[in-house]
Order: sequence, then structure tokens, then C-alpha cells
Amino acid sequence: MIKVEHIEKNFGKLHALKDVSLEIHKGDIVSLIGPSGSGKSTLLRCIHGLEQADAGSIYMDGELMDPKNTEKYRLQRNKMGFVFQHFNLFPNMTVLENCNLAQIQVLHKSKEEATQVSLQLLDKVGLLQKKDSYPNNLSGGQKQRVAIARALCMNPEIMLFDEPTSALDPEMIKEVLEVMKDLGNQGMTMIVVTHEMGFARKVGNRVVFLDQGEIIEECGSEEFFSNPKSDRAKDFLSKVFYD
Ligand code: ADP
Ligand code: MG
Repeated sequence: MIKVEHIEKNFGKLHALKDVSLEIHKGDIVSLIGPSGSGKSTLLRCIHGLEQADAGSIYMDGELMDPKNTEKYRLQRNKMGFVFQHFNLFPNMTVLENCNLAQIQVLHKSKEEATQVSLQLLDKVGLLQKKDSYPNNLSGGQKQRVAIARALCMNPEIMLFDEPTSALDPEMIKEVLEVMKDLGNQGMTMIVVTHEMGFARKVGNRVVFLDQGEIIEECGSEEFFSNPKSDRAKDFLSKVFYD
């Protein structure tokens, strides 16, 4: 579904992604794991087109994603939903308006059509009763569930999550992970940057381990956690698990 081929990204002198190649198949739940600063967000943002790689190519369903091919590129990007660590909801709009906005502006739906979809997806994340609330009156977990519903309103074929639970209080992490797990169980293709190792192991089917801008290890999630091959992955895992 997504094929990343030999991408490179530099920020000035910093070589943030080094010859990264990766394939995501339909129905995959890929956990992107690695130390802080290893390039996880940069990779996710390059896939989504929030950043442009300096070299290499990204294909969606076998077709090159080329920003110069404006209209096609826009449609390709619309197939991807993105969920940020800090929710990025519009504070001056209600939950329902947040969900409706891109459907109306980008997909040119009528307000009625958009609302119908929004209500259905707010129901799916358990927040139908909050449709008229403003984001500032919601808990962090609720905000993130709204952000997920909002992304789903665009009917994406793949969802990209960048540390969706890292800004949450501990007691709210599970409610968000449960929504993501349900999504995966329903067959959504997902790439998840996460420090939730339990989620990566149990819900994810593959792990991509990045360090210093390079893919060091890529394998099934159970294999990664039970039998990491590289010293860097072993070292990382020994730091994240306290025992
Ligand atoms: P991760 O998400 O794994 O923590 P990032 O992809 O955010 O890592 O960052 C990888 C490296 O690139 C880091 O050293 C970071 O400081 C740098 N970086 C990321 N975005 C930018 C940017 N917009 N400008 C300059 N440096 C950046
Ligand atoms: Mg990051």
C-alpha cells in the first residue's frame, strides 16, 4: 500500500533519515520505535507529505507520490489520516465542527452530509454526547479520541499516529489505545510511533526500530520483543523496561 524507497532527509548538517526503505501492506499495524531524536516523526511526516524527503521516493498503491503532480498528490494525501501528539484541535470550534471542517472544506460535502459522518465516528470513539463541547472542556484522552474521529471522518485508507498517548495523563492512555486497537481489529492499516511497548507487542504486527535516522531492525512484533537481534535494539529495550 505504501512503499518508501531509499529516502534521505537532512536538516542543515543533521542527517535525520539515512537511506530508509520500508513497505506497509494493507492491514498492517506497524509500530515505529526508537530513541528520542532517531527520526520517527520525520519519517512519518515524510510519508504524509508534511515534510519532503531530500532524496528517494514514496509510492502509494504502486503510484509515485510527487508533490509536483499537484492534484494527484492531494488525492493521495487525502487517503492518509494523521493523529498528532498534541491533538491539534481547533479550540474555537465544537467537537462536531472540528470533525466537520475538513469534510466540508476539502471533500466539499454539505454540512448535513458531513454531520452525519461526524456523528457516526464520534459514536465509534464513544464521544457522541460531547459533540457540542469545546476541546478545552474535554480531558486529554477525550481530545485525542476526537482527533482520531476527525481523521476517520475523511475516510482514510491508512492512519498515521505520532505518539498519540505521550501527552496524556497515565489514566487516559488506555482509552485511546483501546480505540486504536478496535480500529486495527476492523482492518485499518496503521503506522504508529509509540512508546507503549505493550501496544506495540500485542496490537502491532510488525516493528520498525529506528536509531540515528536508520532502520536497524524490522520484524514481527513478537520476535522483536522476545528476540531482538541488534545490540542497539537490545540496549533500547533494556532502558524502556524497568525491572
Ligand atoms: P523522533 O520523532 O524520533 O524523536 P524526529 O524525527 O523528531 O525524532 O527528529 C530527528 C532529528 O531531526 C532530531 O535530531 C531532531 O532534532 C531533528 N529535527 C526534526 N525536525 C527538525 C526541523 N524541522 N528542523 C531541524 N531539525 C529537526
Ligand atoms: Mg517524534
